[in-house]
Amino acid sequence: MHWRTNLIHSETAAPSGFKSLCTPVYRGSTVLFSTQAEVTDDWRQSQFGYTYGLYGTPTVLELGLRIKELEGAHHTFIVPGGQAAIALVYLAFCKMGSHALIPTTAYGPNREMADGLLAGLGIEVEPYDPMIGKQISQLIRPTTSLIWTESPGSITMEVQDVPAIVASAREHDIPVALDNTYSAGVLFDAFAHGVEVSIQALTKFVGGHSDLLLGSVSVANARRYEQVGMTASYLGMAVSPDDCSLALRGLQTLGVRLAQLEASALQIANWLATQPGIERVLHPALPTCPGHQFWARDFEGSSSVFSIVFDRSISPDRVVAFVDSLRLFKIGMSWGGVTSLAILYPRLQRPDTDYAGRLVRLNVGLEDPNDLIADLHRALSASFTP
Ligand SMILES: *Cc1c(COP(=O)(O)O)cnc(C)c1O
Repeated sequence: MHWRTNLIHSETAAPSGFKSLCTPVYRGSTVLFSTQAEVTDDWRQSQFGYTYGLYGTPTVLELGLRIKELEGAHHTFIVPGGQAAIALVYLAFCKMGSHALIPTTAYGPNREMADGLLAGLGIEVEPYDPMIGKQISQLIRPTTSLIWTESPGSITMEVQDVPAIVASAREHDIPVALDNTYSAGVLFDAFAHGVEVSIQALTKFVGGHSDLLLGSVSVANARRYEQVGMTASYLGMAVSPDDCSLALRGLQTLGVRLAQLEASALQIANWLATQPGIERVLHPALPTCPGHQFWARDFEGSSSVFSIVFDRSISPDRVVAFVDSLRLFKIGMSWGGVTSLAILYPRLQRPDTDYAGRLVRLNVGLEDPNDLIADLHRALSASFTP
């Protein structure tokens, strides 16, 4: 063979038998078959063997299996991000003429997809009060094909009575989907509470270091597996094996990170609750959070994200000054990494609350909590002393 051919068809290979503690990063689009007769193109690789890299290399499938095991799911699909997971769920269960229900407190881009993309496809997404509980049955129509839950809700942190919503949905055989990102798939047991589809932005706690974007869609049974899997293959939702390898590493420290984040966030939330100028602390483990009783009943713990609402007497520009004068807390989106973050929502719209310009969401990181309290204390004094 010419050396140019040899570059592509080599006869050498590294010796086999290398056993390490890490899952190898398998990259690959083409999958080789031994004979023409064996060629298939089936997305169900866990059942029928590898067919194409789009449906996941062994690194991707391993991450899916690890999340499935952790959540107690029937199967877990890995997708490019949390928002991709939300889109996949909508498209798996809704078609033209479908009606879906979504809490008013859902992750903002979920609402935006509903009003934009889905409205254009003839799918009606109706917002509901997150505290509705079993009254959700009054909103169910013959065309309702999906009920979203997100608990706690984004930014305002309302904890939902998910089992009550599930009970109503079951009477009509409607799947309940949960955005379980806050709980990292572990602090709230979605499947034990009757949810049929549980999604996570793995970007947050599983990644854990603000350096990757990934999502997961876990399903409770074979029927939902077929519906979601078929749609995922239509959409070609491939993910990077390198990112999956980082997420697999993140999983190894998820337990210790969550324990530390919970303790630090609680210490800081309790301290903030005693500070003048703060009307309310919206942390699921505090009784001042709507739905706290459901958190106490259904959750194993709390995580790193919560919000504070400033007193009406404090002008919006002072709240801006507070955020700007924080030093350890950086200003930025997303959460679940090692760095503390703060962000103000100047135009936040929620039906019964007037929190616009008064609500700051905090994500506590892995810094020493006493240093974080000192940072908050200094920023509060700097912006509120006349
Ligand atoms: C961040 C987030 C998402 C979106 O995840 P990405 O990976 O950033 O697309 C979805 N739901 C919730 C609750 C989130 O916080």
